[in-house]
Amino acid sequence: MDGLTIVRHPLVQHKLTILRDRNSSVQLFRTVVREIATLLCYEVTRDLPTELVRIETPIAATEAPAIAGKKLVIAPILRAGLTMAEGMLELVPAARVAHIGLYRDPITLEAVEYYFKTPEDVAERLVIIVDPMLATGHTAIAAIDRLKEVGVADMRFVCLLAARPGIEAVRAAHPDVQLWTAAVDDELNDHGYIIPGLGDAGDRTYGTQ
Ligand code: URA
Repeated sequence: MDGLTIVRHPLVQHKLTILRDRNSSVQLFRTVVREIATLLCYEVTRDLPTELVRIETPIAATEAPAIAGKKLVIAPILRAGLTMAEGMLELVPAARVAHIGLYRDPITLEAVEYYFKTPEDVAERLVIIVDPMLATGHTAIAAIDRLKEVGVADMRFVCLLAARPGIEAVRAAHPDVQLWTAAVDDELNDHGYIIPGLGDAGDRTYGTQ
């Protein structure tokens, strides 16, 4: 699908299977979300521009590539996105973090905002939005809408698992935003949960159910 990258690396797929397994403990679930997010971070940053900088090795002066431009922003959608953000920060520890508080109304499944805090100059940076599950797409679309409202032009969306209807909704609403996921499931149930999915990512991360 246009604008969608499915990360098929065996380590990513193996870890996703652990997450799908209902018998995986809260502790294991959290650890593996962090690990898989680190691997997905590697993929989503694959084409970041670099520039040559002058350095001295212990042997000689040389020019070597370094990431160019402003530090990127990781934007977890609360609360389930927080653990993914931690995994990404392992790889890009200097990144800034924007917190986007959105919950799904259980009846309408629409996204409701309760918190939004970004670095002041967020509009000048690449923003990587993270949320484990892309289900209906309502939350992702609301997060992207909100970031565009404050001027962000360059953003990417990374999830662990995406449902086809959600991908189509986000691509239709925001064709400029590319998506990364470890897998695509076809369907949602009546409560907006992905089938077969992995359950409620927030509850499984925090042991709240
Ligand atoms: N959010 C979740 O945590 N799980 C789903 O299956 C869908 C949305």
